[in-house]
Amino acid sequence: MPSPSPAEDLPPFLPPTPAGTARAAELLRAGEVVALPTETVYGLAAHALNEQAVRKVFAIKGRPLIDPLIVHGLDAGFFASLAHFTPAARQLAEACWPGPLTMIVRKTAAVPLLVTAGRDTVALRTPAHPLMRAVLEACQLPLAAPSANPFGYLSPTRAEHVRASFGGRVPWILDGGACALGLESTIVDVSDETAPPRILRPGPITPETLTQILGQLVEIGAPTPLAASNEGLAAPGLLARHYSPRTPLELLEPTQSPVTPPVGERAAWVRLQRPKPADAAPRGVEVFWLSEDGDLAEAARGLYDLLRRLDLAGYEKIWCDCAPESGWGLALNDRLRRAAGRGKP
Ligand code: AMP
Ligand code: MG
Repeated sequence: MPSPSPAEDLPPFLPPTPAGTARAAELLRAGEVVALPTETVYGLAAHALNEQAVRKVFAIKGRPLIDPLIVHGLDAGFFASLAHFTPAARQLAEACWPGPLTMIVRKTAAVPLLVTAGRDTVALRTPAHPLMRAVLEACQLPLAAPSANPFGYLSPTRAEHVRASFGGRVPWILDGGACALGLESTIVDVSDETAPPRILRPGPITPETLTQILGQLVEIGAPTPLAASNEGLAAPGLLARHYSPRTPLELLEPTQSPVTPPVGERAAWVRLQRPKPADAAPRGVEVFWLSEDGDLAEAARGLYDLLRRLDLAGYEKIWCDCAPESGWGLALNDRLRRAAGRGKP
């Protein structure tokens, strides 16, 4: 009989049941690393106040220690001993949590500097995914959970993506099916009462929504100055090249179409909407679309899954349409530009 492949030796996914979430909670309490579904992407979770457990997360991901982690909790009250909420942070927590909003606030001494990469601020989020919430409820721990992908690669939106990337290095994966949103959370810095709130990473919660909730303009842009120990280093989630497939990816403005590949080479063209029959693609270019009718939330949901599949399919190049620069389009374009290595650092 042939010996089983390494994949067959791995435990099955933890099921989306009370037994599955209880097992995940037990493993987390014991200092293990468990991949968990959230409404944005899958996270690689560990007890945020257990440095040994957090170190495992950095090691598994190959994540540099200068890249701070997001800490997840059940609600704002859960973070009371970990962070100082400004009035803006309180307002946003009230309006947007649980949900895909990460807030940067000042931390207390309870949060290890390992988690915040030496900063005096910490990133906090209260996820909405019922399985993630069941695990948080059962373990009663703050969970540091960066996206469950090797550093720099596309974020995972299915349990299978986590297994494909990490195999036996992450035996415990709670299977929540496909993520409902499919792009990482919006990150807003509300740590300083005297400065306007600033979006560090666009995401599902748009600048318009944040401005409306806060009744003040929210800035979009570069991170606030970093703690002395990291001066000059941008947070890697904000690097120009991040969230990238291995296949070279190039963006197309609305009027552009792909260049015909050299004979013998194949390219993929990712469209946000099903093309009209008259929209012919150049020879050697295969066309895919993320939504029938250009629904950008739907496009965001399927983007990483499609890019992963195209990455495995051996194309020499991936071309991708840009979205309009508003609403979901801001987050989509941000990730596409980083995937193409052309993000704003
Ligand atoms: P993720 O891989 O989605 O968990 O991304 C986490 C990202 O959040 C990091 O790469 C940073 O860009 C950002 N982040 C986390 N903590 C902080 C912080 N204290 N200050 C600024 N940005 C942060
Ligand atoms: Mg990440």
